[in-house]
Amino acid sequence: MRTESWGRPRRILTPIQVADIALAISRGSNQVIEAKRYGVSRNTVFRALKRAREGEKEPYQSKPCGTNAAYERHRRNGEVACDACLEAHRIQRMNYIERDPTYKEKRRKWNEQRSAISC
Ligand SMILES: [Zn+2]
Repeated sequence: MRTESWGRPRRILTPIQVADIALAISRGSNQVIEAKRYGVSRNTVFRALKRAREGEKEPYQSKPCGTNAAYERHRRNGEVACDACLEAHRIQRMNYIERDPTYKEKRRKWNEQRSAISC
């Protein structure tokens, strides 16, 4: 993980500053102006306002078995995926293939290459 930022040092906004920004925006300012005023990036303002609006995030909970995320976790941990996860992954793959208009063409090329190697 990157621990230091390039360029200007990272700055955070205090809750009072965030409240001030929210007030200024409600009076017709915008995030870019407020970011310049406090010398932070627009993204810092955006995230601070979002956090103020939604409250602190609840701690991350990993997805339960029977999802593609859980399938990937099994694979990452070097485990054999359970049936529910295999099924979820199969469905995810099917949806992906259905959405890829070039998939049939790709598969034809792969098969051609494979048959060329085996001959
Ligand atoms: Zn599982």
